[in-house]
Amino acid sequence: MDVKKLEEHIRTLATVAEAEAPFMSCYLDLSKGVAGYRDELDSRIQLLEKTLPVHSGRAFEEVKNVVEMCLYVAHLQRTKGLAVFARGGAEPFFLSLAFEVPLPNWIGLGSTPNIYHLVELKDNYDRYVILLMTETSSRIIGINLGEVTEQLWRSRPDLRRQVGHEWTKDHYQEHRRERTKLFINDQIHSLDKLISAGGYTHLMLAGNERMLAAIRKGLPKRLADKLVGSFPAGSTNRTSEIVASTLQAFLKHEEQDSQTVADKLITQIHQHGLAMAGTQDCMDAIRAGQADVLVMAKSYDPGQGWECRGCGHTELQPPSSNTCPKCKGGQLREFDIRGEIVRLAEQQQLSVEIVEQHDVLMRLGGIGCLLRYLAPANYMYSAA
Ligand SMILES: [Zn+2]
Repeated sequence: MDVKKLEEHIRTLATVAEAEAPFMSCYLDLSKGVAGYRDELDSRIQLLEKTLPVHSGRAFEEVKNVVEMCLYVAHLQRTKGLAVFARGGAEPFFLSLAFEVPLPNWIGLGSTPNIYHLVELKDNYDRYVILLMTETSSRIIGINLGEVTEQLWRSRPDLRRQVGHEWTKDHYQEHRRERTKLFINDQIHSLDKLISAGGYTHLMLAGNERMLAAIRKGLPKRLADKLVGSFPAGSTNRTSEIVASTLQAFLKHEEQDSQTVADKLITQIHQHGLAMAGTQDCMDAIRAGQADVLVMAKSYDPGQGWECRGCGHTELQPPSSNTCPKCKGGQLREFDIRGEIVRLAEQQQLSVEIVEQHDVLMRLGGIGCLLRYLAPANYMYSAA
């Protein structure tokens, strides 16, 4: 699975129309084997089943079967994280996504798919490339959503065979330096091509100190700008070891990026600028097409809300009766507020940043938006 594919799936899920039967959104952590999710899955399914009307039993049976089938395949493929979106009944829908990185266990029912954890995954794991170089070989590894998607191996031509006996020691060393430089330039060229073809956003370097210094010196600015870190490694390190050690560093870097966006949000709020905070205001801004970037704290959990299917009236708390107080209609759609906000944001293809820990953002309600423009009311206010 690469980021582009994931983005397409997210868009499909964010725009799928409602039907009579509910959607089950099921995220599972398979990285610890069956023990890591089985009990939680079974107890959640039992609980969810009790909330359904009796006549929907068959549609839910279909959903349960789909999840078990996906789990069977996922275990065969040694998947670490599995997401299944399924709806039974008259308008069936089914999508299963397998990942090389774990997902949290989260199983819910709703009128639309809950895409929050996919969006968080997309924010955490972007595309990056590792260039590992030693004096004798090089490896270029493309990583997409924690998964190795491309690998280029090169070994360096043996120097001794190409050097004649008549060379002096100085001459030989000069020649060796030139060859090293050529080898590095060659690898940088391949790296450059791979990065632009694959849309990779970040670069990491690996190797010994001397080679790392030489590569850094040779990087053109467009690649140096993508560089997020370097670490020691040798040609005997396995690709899986290298990927595991870069992933941690990469996650840290992505969190830093999210923090920077949250800081920008706070600055804009201080300056009465293009920003907004709080659940209701952010939801309104996204609905009005005003929002540009959505920023959420990872622990943001506003609970359930509802929307009237008749008049569109929305409240950000669980419904207190079966009728809408505005139009007296009785068609209420309940939703998980966090999931609903992310769904609206993805419909408009906003960029979404999930921030691990940010005290000021939490005090602002755990959610904020950077805006494209101010609402007309604000224009009038600032003109007065
Ligand atoms: Zn209404």
